[in-house]
Amino acid sequence: MRACGNCGQQVSTEYFRVFADNDGVLHRCQGCTSTTAMLRGAGAGVVAQEVDR
Ligand SMILES: [Zn+2]
Repeated sequence: MRACGNCGQQVSTEYFRVFADNDGVLHRCQGCTSTTAMLRGAGAGVVAQEVDR
């Protein structure tokens, strides 16, 4: 299991691999942002500031 770097929620290794950035940091998860935001790259921190609004 891995943890979200923002809220600390545990996520599956598969989820982490899909959504974390190339440095191994998961910036957002479904516990702290929307599925839509995740699909836009919020997990990798690409548009985290934008999608949080
Ligand atoms: Zn989170």
